[in-house]
Amino acid sequence: SSFAELALCPELQFTLKNLGYEQPTPIQSQAIPLVLRGDDLLAEAQTGTGKTASFALPIIEKLSKNPIDGYRPVRALVLAPTRELAIQVADNTLEYGRDLGMRVISVYGGVPVENQIKRLKRGTDILVATPGRLLDLLRQKAISLEKLEYLVLDEADRMLDLGFIDPIQKIMDYAADDRQTLLFTATADESVEVLAEFYLNNPTKIKV
Ligand code: AMP
Repeated sequence: SSFAELALCPELQFTLKNLGYEQPTPIQSQAIPLVLRGDDLLAEAQTGTGKTASFALPIIEKLSKNPIDGYRPVRALVLAPTRELAIQVADNTLEYGRDLGMRVISVYGGVPVENQIKRLKRGTDILVATPGRLLDLLRQKAISLEKLEYLVLDEADRMLDLGFIDPIQKIMDYAADDRQTLLFTATADESVEVLAEFYLNNPTKIKV
């Protein structure tokens, strides 16, 4: 299939062409239409399959179709297991959303929190975060997830392996309930299934 057949808007198609993306990868062909129509998703996909674009593109598409005026609350959150992945996901998402004016910020541990708080004050459409640092920022009221529309758990199995279940549960208490949730994992073991059971609403399951 092509990106046009996936019903992505002309601006995004233009952006992808400029990035040299000629056609969607299998996970993108499967996930993009499901995310666009509003499904919760339990997706089994490895890194390197193009999974970032498979959630970032339809989220950007939907956010840009439904702009909100004034101050920008966080409308989409991506939780990632490591600083490296958070930075990479934010960089890619920024590239995909640049022509549509999307703001993207990443926050993660291991660096001073003050600069992150300062940047968050300017508002962002999409936030990419590691769980521990995000929980700190929520507790300090440096950020609100009350207007959240999309939540992505990226590499959920790795987040569980790294012991992030506790911060994830606490973050969920801050997040708007009325949202679309997408879970990406390399392996769908018991603990991932339990997480999905808790936080996804009648998810569509895909695997590449
Ligand atoms: P990911 O699995 O999201 O880490 O993506 C792996 C790499 O594939 C990244 O460098 C992306 O920029 C690239 N990529 C993702 N989707 C496509 C596509 N449809 N065509 C070409 N490259 C892609």
